[in-house]
Amino acid sequence: NEPLSVVDPEIAAVLEQELGRQRDYLEMIASENFVPRAILESQGSVLTNKYAEGYPGRRYYGGCEFVDIAENLAIERAKKLFGAGFANVQPHSGAQANAAVLSAIAAPGDTILGLELSHGGHLTHGMKLNFSGKLYNAVAYEVDPESYLIDMEVVRKQALEHKPKVIIAGWSAYPRQLDFAAFRAIADEVGAYLWVDMAHFAGLVAAGLHPSPVPHAHVVSTTVHKTLAGPRSGLILSSDESLYKKLNSAVFPGQQGGPLMHVIAAKATAFKLAMEPEFKDRQERTIRGARILAERLTADDAKAAGVDVLTGGTDVHLVLVDLRASDVDGKQAENLLHEVGITVNRNSVPWDPRPPMTTSGVRIGTPALATRGFGDDEFREVADIIALTLMPEPDLEALAARVKVLTTAFPLYA
Ligand code: PLP
Repeated sequence: NEPLSVVDPEIAAVLEQELGRQRDYLEMIASENFVPRAILESQGSVLTNKYAEGYPGRRYYGGCEFVDIAENLAIERAKKLFGAGFANVQPHSGAQANAAVLSAIAAPGDTILGLELSHGGHLTHGMKLNFSGKLYNAVAYEVDPESYLIDMEVVRKQALEHKPKVIIAGWSAYPRQLDFAAFRAIADEVGAYLWVDMAHFAGLVAAGLHPSPVPHAHVVSTTVHKTLAGPRSGLILSSDESLYKKLNSAVFPGQQGGPLMHVIAAKATAFKLAMEPEFKDRQERTIRGARILAERLTADDAKAAGVDVLTGGTDVHLVLVDLRASDVDGKQAENLLHEVGITVNRNSVPWDPRPPMTTSGVRIGTPALATRGFGDDEFREVADIIALTLMPEPDLEALAARVKVLTTAFPLYA
């Protein structure tokens, strides 16, 4: 029982280096966050040793009396947090949750209708190399070419034309709220299930700062590790009683074997924390930070440099920077920001003229910095650093020094 540094110094070094990176850089990948120590504790606990195939009280293994408590707490808290009648807390990840959802409500060959991947959709919503695009007949709706918003008339037209079994609402890169009631009306009109994948905005929903899809959708899936700020994993919710059994059996035995009980325990803690006032305050700072960033990146000097923001702003935790008019492409922007100490990811914009490995966009999110403690003043400073980095002839050294002031003032896992 030697410590990791003795058993495997190479991996111990990776852990140290990664902690250093997380401390020294400003994390602005929109899908990332920092979990509290309490969650790291469960994830690194003896619960990882336990097999618990099945569900609480109905396991295929002995010795589940304590992990049952953890899973029941996670289920009850998830239901309460989101006002849902049903929760399955076993999906190992968002993609696994989505595979289970689709297998519960559609049969191979059925048509599914989701947001086009290059317009902000997710791989699991029908991308051709993903299970969702291979097993199902995937069709897509696109954003409006002028406003870059999802136009519900376009969704309806696609739904009437393709008669999908499932309509998917949800995104990985879209800066506005969705109209869940309108999606449900279309689903009802064509006899489809409405599945909402709220992976990105679940934390905002939990805090009451974004409309909840739960009353409208037949089924809702999410990751737990983005705005929701819990362990890397997935969650399925529903309030449609006719689906509860199907969803459970789609997860186990349909998609997975033994659940990750150390992660499920950590999910329970994450849901508990998401009901606290601190969580709401953090989500408010997250949204305000994204708005501050969007305002700075649409200021006159940014626009003059060819920098803009898709849809002109944001209602959520991220901003989609549009660099089509800039000499700096998405990849260069990602690299420049890395040089000053800010981590983001390049992202295609709809109908991107540059290739997918280069792109004309950057996706920038504020959840991790809000968790780190940033408020309006700090987000104004970060927004200015980002804007200046993307403008011609940036003084990268001076900008890196400004980043260092922020990382020093807000220590991580101190
Ligand atoms: N759904 C959406 C909308 C996502 O953005 C993501 C992750 O990027 C996922 C599902 C998949 O989650 P995971 O990476 O945990 O499989």
